[in-house]
Amino acid sequence: MKRRTFCVSAAAAIGAAGIPHGWAFAAVSAVSADVTVVTGDGNNILLSAADVEDFRAGLRGQLLLRGAAGYEDARKIFNGMFDRRPALIARCLGAADVVRAVNFARAHELLVAVRGGGHSLSGQSVCDDGLMIDLSLMRSVRVDPTERLARAGGGALLGDIDRETLPFGLVTTTGTVSHTGAGGLTLGGGFGRVARRFGLACDQLTSVDVVTADGKLLEASATENSDLFWAIRGGGGNFGIATSFEYRLHPFDGRAVGGHLVFPIEHAQSALRGFDELFDRAPDGLWIEPILTTLPGGARALVLDVCLTDGLDSADAALAPYRRLGKPLKDAVGPVHYVQLQTQDDERARIGGRYYTKSGFVDRLSDDLVGTMLEIIGSAPVPRVRIAMPPKGAAVDRVARDATAFWHRGVLYSLLLQTSGDEPAEDAANVGWARSQWPVLEKFTAGFYANTNLSEIPTARVREAYGGNYERLLTLKRKYDPVNLFRLNANIDPKGAAAV
Ligand SMILES: Cc1cc2nc3c(=O)[nH]c(=O)nc-3n(C[C@H](O)[C@H](O)[C@H](O)COP(=O)(O)OP(=O)(O)OC[C@H]3O[C@@H](n4cnc5c(N)ncnc54)[C@H](O)[C@@H]3O)c2cc1C
Repeated sequence: MKRRTFCVSAAAAIGAAGIPHGWAFAAVSAVSADVTVVTGDGNNILLSAADVEDFRAGLRGQLLLRGAAGYEDARKIFNGMFDRRPALIARCLGAADVVRAVNFARAHELLVAVRGGGHSLSGQSVCDDGLMIDLSLMRSVRVDPTERLARAGGGALLGDIDRETLPFGLVTTTGTVSHTGAGGLTLGGGFGRVARRFGLACDQLTSVDVVTADGKLLEASATENSDLFWAIRGGGGNFGIATSFEYRLHPFDGRAVGGHLVFPIEHAQSALRGFDELFDRAPDGLWIEPILTTLPGGARALVLDVCLTDGLDSADAALAPYRRLGKPLKDAVGPVHYVQLQTQDDERARIGGRYYTKSGFVDRLSDDLVGTMLEIIGSAPVPRVRIAMPPKGAAVDRVARDATAFWHRGVLYSLLLQTSGDEPAEDAANVGWARSQWPVLEKFTAGFYANTNLSEIPTARVREAYGGNYERLLTLKRKYDPVNLFRLNANIDPKGAAAV
């Protein structure tokens, strides 16, 4: 894929007033009433109908106001706990729409939420009364098999990337549930089944198109705006809106050995301790996520979610020690296509379900930690609870901590305590229980993943997500977003103190 250099001044001009009107693709009626909106600082202001209509008419995509057809669907995100109602939803069709939306938001100091795949567990991609900049129509993926590159739109989902790359015998790192957005996942880091072979999703980036707070469309790469390129690989949505991502691809024919190995809860203590010792020496091609969970019928169990993508000829030998960790209740690990593994959790992680998650990084599964997890899972009074330990290591650790903004390398697992329900009436019990249990688990953690439980993290603790990279990120936030237009994320407040 040929590198492009953007003409910044021309791109910025796209968002300026005076653009030819009347080319919006859908028959959305003209705005005839003033609109009350909230600013980033939380003040209510009135936008004139003429200003909003001017904004709407210049978009190639749609501008949805409350009551418009499509508004109710567009405001929904993955986590049904967040029932928020933006004043305006800009459904962008391309970079020019994004430039226009950013310019409008900046001019009126609006509260802005950026929606990629909509899977923010803490609801950051939707806001009450502000402007939602919605990228979910920008899902194209173009593969260049010769250069082994894929260019994905800012709202592409993980499944879009897998489905376009694998037919060419190529893959890149994505996450484990195919309806998750690649945008948010990649900007925050991005762990998945092949991360131990190839590195994080953000490590695969070669170039990203970013609309910054001043409405410029910049290319960020190793040679263009390289400081921005550094910051967006782990710094989340703090620095602008990525309208497209270019990923490096790796040869992979899609053949895997994987599935679930299920042990009774009585074997879990010794199995997890044995697992930790084995997995510390595991080859790059082996990814196994231990999960303490509830089986249909209510029994608790330890599930090892296995995915081997390399060295398949010796798969039996590689997996035999894990099969001997206890007497499995079920052994459903065998030859399988990678896409089957990448979609196996799509239904369990139901879009619109009500999820509550706490998380942090842990290096090892010590006796104490395992004992604590088992007490918690054994005594949980709520039905759908799981403690998942998605693994990292290998290639993730071979990138220096300051080579990108993603700091938390060198830890073997994430630790996630999750509850879920279907009805609002279940929320209080689920949330209350998880909150009450988390402090005993949290003391085993060091730092947390910016892509998970942000809603209750005080600003002072956000720097833990960025570790030793925080000060440099703060400097770059002041350069690229001094007004904190992009604040609904693991926010680096440009007004924040430079040192603790
Ligand atoms: C079911 C499920 C499974 C998950 N599995 C994994 C996993 O395997 N590995 C992993 O690493 N993480 C995983 N996560 C966490 C995931 O990385 C985050 O939830 C991530 O934010 C999802 O990205 P999104 O685009 O869908 O999010 P959205 O809700 O759309 O956006 C979240 C935030 O990301 C930013 N953002 C999104 N797109 C853009 C863009 N194009 N430009 C600028 N900013 C943008 C914005 O700040 C936004 O507030 C999972 C989450 C869920 C709900």
